[in-house]
Amino acid sequence: MKNEGIEGTERFVSPERGRGLRALRHFSVGELLFSCPAYSYVLTVNERGAHCEHCFTRREDLFKCGKCKQAYYCNVECQRGDWPMHKLECMAMCAYGENWCPSETVRLVARIIMKQRVTTERTLSEKVLLLKEFESHLDKMDSEKDEIVQADIAALHHFYSKHISDLPDEQTLIELFAQVNCNGFTIEDEELSHLGSAVFPDVALMNHSCSPNVIVTYKGTAAEVRAVQEINPGEEIFNSYIDLLYPTEDRKERLLESYFFTCQCTECTTKSKDKAKMEIRKLSLPPEPEEIQSMVRYAKNIIEEFRRAKHYKNILHIFPSELLEMCELSQEKMGAIFGDTNVYMLHMMYQAMGVCLYMQDWDGAMSYGEKIVQPYSVHYPAYSLNVASMYLKLGRLYLGLERKTQGVKALKKALAIMEVAHGKEHHYVAEVKREIEEQK
Ligand SMILES: [Zn+2]
Ligand SMILES: [Zn+2]
Ligand SMILES: [Zn+2]
Repeated sequence: MKNEGIEGTERFVSPERGRGLRALRHFSVGELLFSCPAYSYVLTVNERGAHCEHCFTRREDLFKCGKCKQAYYCNVECQRGDWPMHKLECMAMCAYGENWCPSETVRLVARIIMKQRVTTERTLSEKVLLLKEFESHLDKMDSEKDEIVQADIAALHHFYSKHISDLPDEQTLIELFAQVNCNGFTIEDEELSHLGSAVFPDVALMNHSCSPNVIVTYKGTAAEVRAVQEINPGEEIFNSYIDLLYPTEDRKERLLESYFFTCQCTECTTKSKDKAKMEIRKLSLPPEPEEIQSMVRYAKNIIEEFRRAKHYKNILHIFPSELLEMCELSQEKMGAIFGDTNVYMLHMMYQAMGVCLYMQDWDGAMSYGEKIVQPYSVHYPAYSLNVASMYLKLGRLYLGLERKTQGVKALKKALAIMEVAHGKEHHYVAEVKREIEEQK
């Protein structure tokens, strides 16, 4: 393929942020800037059987691979299309059984290595940035990150060396893993459930802002980039790399830790939303700054502890009810100082809602959702997938509990955001419209 770039945009070098993408013409809110097929992708293990391994279509009548009985497909075309990648895992899964457990990053990297071997030209995913050009930030890797990469490389050798002849040398692998760690994407569905991991080189060219002017959504395994603010010719195009719920200090920490830069966007400079995000309970005796600081430390610790507990819940044998209790206790403690719309309170409520959904406690999930959704729409930007998915989950819960009017109202709120972020033609939008229509 000739390098034709992306119509209406150009790659450029910004003085503060290095290379990036900027607009050459005007884009209005909701307009598609570009679509990018995945260079490589992988369906997450938990979604096997619910989505086609090849095209990520969600349907109930998928059929499974006759050999491993673990991968599912729409039809024989999808199965054939997926074989060059699935064959890396099919036999190995049979051979290792329960002990087959490479991380999703390892699975993705194995696919990238195979793709690189059969690719001689610039792909359709690399109109403005080649995968080979990804930053690796190797010089900024600390020992903790280094250990993770080393473990991933060991797993790659362990689970894939039989099916990938001569894996690249150690240094090449370290660089590739580091590149994927700071340029990889996770694919999510309309409720923000994790579906898989992928690399989209052109999408990775965009720099970050905490007040982004585009949103990335997924159609099957392709990424779509739409404007969520008016973009004028000459303006840089910014995506967001992180969850924007948290106050400036937390966002900066996260960006530095995972992407190795200090954000200087307008939100980070003006900190306009920090006060609302850190809402303090109205008390006759207001808390001292030290008390607030110590509660923030507690909140961050509990968030981290909870993240680990959830991550290792199978290994540690933690029951969902214990997770729920952890959420409730922390809310009680933080509630002494933080208001109900404080983002740390909201974080724990969101986790609690997730556990309720997992336990099929629909009433519990609904009452958490009701507390979360209003403050969410204040803290997040005007068009946010976090807000849309919260309205969507809540709307679907209402309808499941026969609360028709409230259900339709919530779904319409989700739809208004999704029509901009996903585009009016997206199958998720059609699905929500159908759900509303069915209530008439
Ligand atoms: Zn398919
Ligand atoms: Zn198979
Ligand atoms: Zn920022």
